[in-house]
Amino acid sequence: MSLALAFGGTACFLLRTELPSRSFRSMGTLATVTLGAAYADRIEPVTAQVRGIFDRLERELSTYRPDSAICLLSEKAGVAPRAISDDTYRVLSLGQHFGDLSGGAFDITVAPLVRLWGFGKTSAPPDLPSEETIREQLKLVDYRRLVLKDGTAFLPRKGMAVDLGGIAKGYAVDRAFDYCRSAGIKDFLIDLSGNIRVSGRPQGGEDWQIGVRDPFDRSRLIGKVTLPSGMALATSGSYERFVEIGGQRYSHIIDPRTGYPVTGTAGVTILCGDATTADGLSTSFFVVGLKGTARLLQKTPGAEVLILPDKYPREIWLTPSFAKTFVPIPELSSKARSGCAGVADFAGLFCVLPS
Ligand code: ADP
Ligand code: MG
Repeated sequence: MSLALAFGGTACFLLRTELPSRSFRSMGTLATVTLGAAYADRIEPVTAQVRGIFDRLERELSTYRPDSAICLLSEKAGVAPRAISDDTYRVLSLGQHFGDLSGGAFDITVAPLVRLWGFGKTSAPPDLPSEETIREQLKLVDYRRLVLKDGTAFLPRKGMAVDLGGIAKGYAVDRAFDYCRSAGIKDFLIDLSGNIRVSGRPQGGEDWQIGVRDPFDRSRLIGKVTLPSGMALATSGSYERFVEIGGQRYSHIIDPRTGYPVTGTAGVTILCGDATTADGLSTSFFVVGLKGTARLLQKTPGAEVLILPDKYPREIWLTPSFAKTFVPIPELSSKARSGCAGVADFAGLFCVLPS
């Protein structure tokens, strides 16, 4: 017996609400456009344009629409290459880039495993898959075998399939960001299910302030982050989406090296210069955990991380620059201490969350 569960409320969200703002559903989730106070009269047309961008990308990139470019590509696996749009081409090659960067922890061909664990289109939650089934499906997972050439994409083996759930929302936020800038809006925030990118400031003086939810207790924050103009934030969490099989929770992020849902990480938030990278890296770092993140950080300059291992006593690890912009709630700041206990090269601030 199993049960699919989801909690409302994204991991990160804008703290002030009195600004002109519109929300709508797209890409299977909630999107919000917020403009600086000076642009109040432009909120409707700007939201309509952003919505158009998200809806168009959803039609191309979604695994839930049988007629999306991605589903048609997967359908043609082992048969023939398919012509794809520039956007789809870019997202697929960015997906391969994050695959390389993460040593295969991030893999856009993870779809067969995502389905196997009950997160795909056919969302009837599964019984626990057998080791043999997992081994079989693993043979279909390898992003390096996806061939991108001359505006076409090809999956060489029947049964292979693409899932862009770990990167498409960040990419969409960047396209919306580009649109808003090109339309002459200086101060805005785009939020697609916690994939956030900002420009300018909400109202003169202060930068945008984003609340970060406690992945262990989603009714409270662990602190807030200040986002300078142009910066992006994304979170991957095991408490947002999971299935329960036999009383055990399984995360919707799968380790493509083992075929099993990731354990050991409760949440990862990335702060960096664009939303695509923030999205790709949050999923990648979620898979490799605290120690793997410490190693990968050397290859990802400009990416700042806040990571919560899934263990007791609870800990928050932050890279030094993230620590500078992060204001923990008072209970946490009293417990903050510097150090890198147990993890070489992760010279961050270390906090223990009160239980
Ligand atoms: P969310 O989509 O919940 O905001 P993420 O950005 O971390 O969170 O993406 C998780 C999604 O990425 C999963 O729902 C699935 O579609 C896909 N995915 C799962 N495991 C992997 C993986 N190892 N590499 C790339 N994508 C993955
Ligand atoms: Mg992601």
